[in-house]
Amino acid sequence: MTTDVLRVQDLVVHYHTPLGAVRAADHITFTLRAEERLGLAGESGSGKSTMALAILRMIKPPGRIEAGEIWLDDRNLMTLSEEEMRQVRLARIAMIPQGSMNSLNPVIRIKEQIGDALRDHGVPLSRRDLEGRVRDLLQSVGLQPQVAEMYPHELSGGMKQRACIAIAISLRPKVIIADEPTSALDVVVQKQVMETLARVQKELEASVILVGHDMGLVAQFVNRLGVMYAGKLVEVSPVRDIFTKPLHPYTQMLIASLPSLEQKGTFRGIPGLAPLLRDLPPGCAFHPRCPQALDRCRTEAPQFKEARPDSWAACHLL
Ligand code: SF4
Repeated sequence: MTTDVLRVQDLVVHYHTPLGAVRAADHITFTLRAEERLGLAGESGSGKSTMALAILRMIKPPGRIEAGEIWLDDRNLMTLSEEEMRQVRLARIAMIPQGSMNSLNPVIRIKEQIGDALRDHGVPLSRRDLEGRVRDLLQSVGLQPQVAEMYPHELSGGMKQRACIAIAISLRPKVIIADEPTSALDVVVQKQVMETLARVQKELEASVILVGHDMGLVAQFVNRLGVMYAGKLVEVSPVRDIFTKPLHPYTQMLIASLPSLEQKGTFRGIPGLAPLLRDLPPGCAFHPRCPQALDRCRTEAPQFKEARPDSWAACHLL
């Protein structure tokens, strides 16, 4: 039997702007299983990074979590105080943020940045213990011990990203959220960083949520894939099924738009543009772009439901 480590239930996040509420996450429901790798893919502005931040309750004003529950094992994170939540971050759920290479402090050596993270969570370590711990952490992400004494600007992009992974796993979290962790890296380094992430996940027996706009890249890493559109989760399916028998018309069109070796030179884009999150069309938000839209799609939003075993989608055709 699979156990869920994280359960997100009906999560709603709005950003309040002078022009109205931007509905960045609209009643999102999904689970993350023990030792699972779950992908969240979608175009930019689909709400996937908002989801990553919301799980850690790191949405900043004018954004706000309006409703929903985030269960980590048997605790609803929405009921925790700020201090309790601060302890959960890093210790239980760690984030490798988007552009994390810039999240390192440029004037502090790597070992001190790891030490700060540990001390901040009350881990009592002597100088010698800290050096040993830093060495082990760097080794587990494939970095040499000398990196401990270096400043971020002395590291390549890939090394900086691995240093960020070392900080993220310093308290052996059970859930790692990686938001576009390889977006600024070249293809070879991307692969190395993803292999590092896969290795540490296995070692820690952790679960990973990988957020990305490149569906092909995300799919290579995950067991199940969630597809987001206009602030909603429109499909979650095992990755092998999503490529062979996608349920939602948007997923079908996304997959058809991926470049393939068989169809060299032909790219099929998705016609139209994603809607503004503060001005969503009524009914199914995908209906203006959906070639299979029915009359009811223009007025009635589809429910997100299990459409076949272990596959969930929101579409009136299902
Ligand atoms: Fe297309 Fe209707 Fe399904 Fe939306 S609900 S994806 S418009 S068929």
